[in-house]
Amino acid sequence: MTLKQYLYQIAKDLIESNNLEDITIQFKKVRRGSARKWNRKITIPIWSIQKSRAFAIYYIIHEISHFIVNDKLGGAVSHGKLFKQVETNILEKYYIKPVYKKAYPKYLTDLNGNKLCGNYGKEIISV
Ligand SMILES: [Zn+2]
Repeated sequence: MTLKQYLYQIAKDLIESNNLEDITIQFKKVRRGSARKWNRKITIPIWSIQKSRAFAIYYIIHEISHFIVNDKLGGAVSHGKLFKQVETNILEKYYIKPVYKKAYPKYLTDLNGNKLCGNYGKEIISV
């Protein structure tokens, strides 16, 4: 299974386990990724999946977390406390722990606190 296939699988599992309506996921040569709620489309920049496996997994989970929070939890503030709880809980299942600096993690660690990678970029959210 390629990394891209693995990321699609993670997305599929999260969509199913959270009973979300379908979300289209595309990998594109763009500078910034996005989660667009109006057309249920997530765009993942190609560069983000070339940085590190942990960062790629973080990136897809981050974007799907926007839909979980929006669809199931009444649309809490993006990157707020609830959002971070949802994101952190999912990441833990993949043995990743975010160390936050405001909205985004400044780096990611494994569950023992060993640094996996830094944070390389942000994304655009449109409601
Ligand atoms: Zn976000």
